Amino acid sequence: MSKYPELIPNFLKFAKINTRSDPNSTTVPSSPRETEFLNMLKQTLIDMGLENVHTNDQSAYVFATLPATAEQAVPTVGFISHIDTADFNSENIQPKIVENYDGQSVIKLDEKGEYTLDPKVFASLKKYKGDTLITTDGSTLLGSDDKSGVAEILSAVKYLMDHPEIKHGTIKIGFGPDEEIGTGADRFDVKDFGADVAYTVDGGPLGDMNYETFNAADAKVSIKGTDVHPAEAKGIMVNAIQVGMDFHGALPDFDRPEKTEDREGFFHIYDFKGSVDHTEMAYIIRDHDRDRFEARKRLFQGIADQMNTDFGEDRIKVTIKDQYYNMGEIIEKDPTPVKIAEQAMKNVDVKPHIFPVRGGTDGSKISYMGLPTPNIFAGGENMHGRFEYVSEQTMVKAVDVILEIAKLYAEKVIGQKRSNYCSGH
Ligand SMILES: [Zn+2]
Repeated sequence: MSKYPELIPNFLKFAKINTRSDPNSTTVPSSPRETEFLNMLKQTLIDMGLENVHTNDQSAYVFATLPATAEQAVPTVGFISHIDTADFNSENIQPKIVENYDGQSVIKLDEKGEYTLDPKVFASLKKYKGDTLITTDGSTLLGSDDKSGVAEILSAVKYLMDHPEIKHGTIKIGFGPDEEIGTGADRFDVKDFGADVAYTVDGGPLGDMNYETFNAADAKVSIKGTDVHPAEAKGIMVNAIQVGMDFHGALPDFDRPEKTEDREGFFHIYDFKGSVDHTEMAYIIRDHDRDRFEARKRLFQGIADQMNTDFGEDRIKVTIKDQYYNMGEIIEKDPTPVKIAEQAMKNVDVKPHIFPVRGGTDGSKISYMGLPTPNIFAGGENMHGRFEYVSEQTMVKAVDVILEIAKLYAEKVIGQKRSNYCSGH
């Protein structure tokens, strides 16, 4: 029997339930589907016998507590996953299981074979020789992001409950909505959660860990034109579309998503609606480095200011709103959470792969609320679409890592006590 018998059955059950979040909604959670799913999870946690299971009013997160087994005061460690899935068809999700994958065959997703997982296209498949893969049927996403995380946390907690001889501190569990639309963690209630340190279990393949994220801002540009008949336009017309193109052209040509990688930041235009009379543009601004991030915002505003000066009137209005900051700034003050997770991975033969994520995680916001929250792998590949898949063996390792993190925090305290005692004179 599998070490974590509920892991895959739970994942398959969760994956089949549509929990797609809704970017156009203003409710929390953004869709009633999510509320239903969170209530189901809440009942699961109650049935498992966890303590203080409740829905946090301000965030709609479901929180639960697993009491400590260690006698000493051990830091309270939280594990967090989001339950919503990305902006892709999530109706009638039918996960498929490929046992003992040979690492080279083309996997047909749908009956006709219109969509396939081909190692020539997705080289990651070659890593999974001998593994059991869970894929989609080609018509939906899988939702391994982040129902793998949910199932993994539940299995880890179940394991600890079945093995009270394992010494650990208090464990907090948090399942929340709307990560994919970037709003779920905005209302996260650090005080109610009650952890000293936390991990989002929301990363990709085996060994992935992130504690650096982008600094992020959203920027809107609104341009007022002067529309007159083209025949009599000379010296009078101000074409708001042209002004928009000029504005965009004044941004650094190479600082775009399609031309940058690793730690290179960018300006990304993602919407442009224009008429001669009025044009609206929407951008995101990203940089890992805080100073460069601030400089990017100044440059963006500065282009508008200069153009307004040239016009002799304010035609271009820029609105910049910060979205989240690089959690690396917080983690670097005390890298213990990263060191522990790194050690936890090594202890269960997983090679840590730590890299700055070119995006944000729920942990970027939560870390700035005072709870350091790096992100560890949940296992998914090709997330957010029909080619998403996950390996059962990777999911088992993710549970191993969660358990190991819980143990290491306890061992650190117990070990320190012991050495203090020995050298205490
Ligand atoms: Zn995710």
